[in-house]
Amino acid sequence: MARIIAVTNQKGGVGKTTTCVNLAASLAAMKRRVLLIDLDPQGNATTGSGLIKEELDTSVFDVLVGSHGVKDVMKLVMEDTPDGKYWVLPANGDLTGAEVALLDLPSKETRLRAGLYEVDNDFDYILLDCPPALNMLTVNALAASQGVLIPVQCEYYALEGLTALLQTIEHISRALNPSLEIEGILRTMYDPRPSLTHDVSNQLQKHFGSKVYDTVIPRNIRLAEAPSYGVPVLYYEKQSRGAIAYLALAGEFIRKRHAKTA
Ligand code: ADP
Ligand code: MG
Repeated sequence: MARIIAVTNQKGGVGKTTTCVNLAASLAAMKRRVLLIDLDPQGNATTGSGLIKEELDTSVFDVLVGSHGVKDVMKLVMEDTPDGKYWVLPANGDLTGAEVALLDLPSKETRLRAGLYEVDNDFDYILLDCPPALNMLTVNALAASQGVLIPVQCEYYALEGLTALLQTIEHISRALNPSLEIEGILRTMYDPRPSLTHDVSNQLQKHFGSKVYDTVIPRNIRLAEAPSYGVPVLYYEKQSRGAIAYLALAGEFIRKRHAKTA
């Protein structure tokens, strides 16, 4: 059975998409079977994985409205790497209309979950890249997931909004998905110098304890450059601090899962 993880924070620009693409690639490099689902109409995880949004015949929108199955829509990426292949369920601007389209459909909160049954045995990990909003797409992601990975940028407003996110998680867990839990808190764009970083870091540790990953993702220009080449940083600059950090995160992520299931 696949472990399904929603990468969520309703704040934009905290590193959700960067985490999804690079964690997917790093898990794949560790021989895990990975499906990355793009749930943001901006389609950044789609293009960052080398797919061209304008060339898609179908997207995650078709899965949500039920016109296509996941297997019909998902695409294999990084095919020319020795062992870095993963699958992407892509998104484009069509997804902007999903909110309205879903309104008229039954079980509008659990349509993604229903779509994923088909591939549950085909993957070790399914990562969901959420939009920067607590909307129906994010609700679908949370209803379909077992874990929530929350990227947090250690800056002044970092903790603002986390309460709303935690309440949403709590609500979904009560109403739709009792097995939902916080998978981990990831500190992104981490700069160890300012004392503010340490304040935020300490507060996160106080509140979330061992849920905060030991691995931190440093601010690294290669991570910002790689998407314009349509590749995870691992295939742009393997030796970069960004690439090394996401490989370390994948290792910690896998170990934590083993510890839990052992
Ligand atoms: P989100 O999906 O939460 O909106 P992104 O992953 O798109 O956030 O990141 C926002 C911007 O910051 C992007 O331009 C991305 O390339 C850049 N970025 C993300 N993580 C890092 C990092 N660790 N170091 C440098 N730039 C980063
Ligand atoms: Mg994003």
